[in-house]
Amino acid sequence: MNATTALLSLRGVSRTFTTRRALLGRRLDVVHAVNDVSLDIAAGETLGIVGESGSGKSTLGRVALRLIEPDRGTIEFDGRDLLGADGRDLRRERQRMTVIFQDPYTSLDPRWTVERLVGEPLRIAGGTSPADQRDRVVEALRRVGLEPDVLTRRPRGFSGGQRQRIVIARALVTRPKLVFCDEPVSALDVSTRARVLGLLRELQVETGLAYLFVSHDLGVVEAVSDRIAVMYLGSIVEVGGAETVAQRYGHPYTAALVSASPAPDPLDRGAKRRIVLRGDPPSPITPPSGCAFHPRCPLAQPVCAVRKPPLRADPDGHAVACHRTAEDRRLRGADLLDLLRGEPTMNLLTPEGTPT
Ligand code: SF4
Repeated sequence: MNATTALLSLRGVSRTFTTRRALLGRRLDVVHAVNDVSLDIAAGETLGIVGESGSGKSTLGRVALRLIEPDRGTIEFDGRDLLGADGRDLRRERQRMTVIFQDPYTSLDPRWTVERLVGEPLRIAGGTSPADQRDRVVEALRRVGLEPDVLTRRPRGFSGGQRQRIVIARALVTRPKLVFCDEPVSALDVSTRARVLGLLRELQVETGLAYLFVSHDLGVVEAVSDRIAVMYLGSIVEVGGAETVAQRYGHPYTAALVSASPAPDPLDRGAKRRIVLRGDPPSPITPPSGCAFHPRCPLAQPVCAVRKPPLRADPDGHAVACHRTAEDRRLRGADLLDLLRGEPTMNLLTPEGTPT
């Protein structure tokens, strides 16, 4: 995909935050939340972003929609410079890029009726009469399987799944082109989760929506995504087609996520033994030099501590950022897992061509 066919296109986007000493108010630390990220999302596509807590995936989603301003980089939405938009232009773009947040219990004001909750984005945007707003609210509710008799009710009378349907209706009411789904099912029980994911998929088929879908759960991301990007400490370390990344993964961190995922097919997914990474994720305040994954990586070599590996793409667009695995197509999927577990089933060569 190139920038001209992308609905949303990010190039070199970074975002840092400063933390301050509470009592003295002095600048203390810089948190590198998103670091030089480039990605595209096509119309009607779902791009899943997966990573541990603190990987920067939710911040990336917020930056992509300009809910948070980036420090560096460019963002184009539907062919327009999103960072150059302001005033009415920005409000118009915001109608076409909406958000579904994680927790349907806290993202709905309990004092408001469903009609007010779902219609709020239309009132903020302006330009529609109260009668049109009501029609659009009813249309959005019907799309998510709720009848107009819920208009006067308040959120406390609904189950978690119904609340998330109200949240989705609110995201749809402005007829957006792109929806940022920020861990949209992680607060729901398993059966409700499946129904909400099915609903999101149906809505995409009906309306041609694109989703930027963020989750810590690789299984959930694989189930809904056309492509997957894996984030570690603010950077994308692997990206490609969903099936490719989930089954022919080439980055050791992705392999660790796969081994920890409760996959339905343990043979294919190599779930016979989980890879336990050394230590906790490093602090984004003091990210490691070179490859940020090197302090935890079972395959790390001296070069990994000094040089950051670039994302290198195969002809099919599957890209991996790793000095050892990016250009060796034998180190994919189950073979990579075996190597990480110390059970290699093949003779491996170092990048210099000598046996490991
Ligand atoms: Fe591991 Fe080195 Fe690859 Fe980073 S570059 S994932 S440390 S082998």
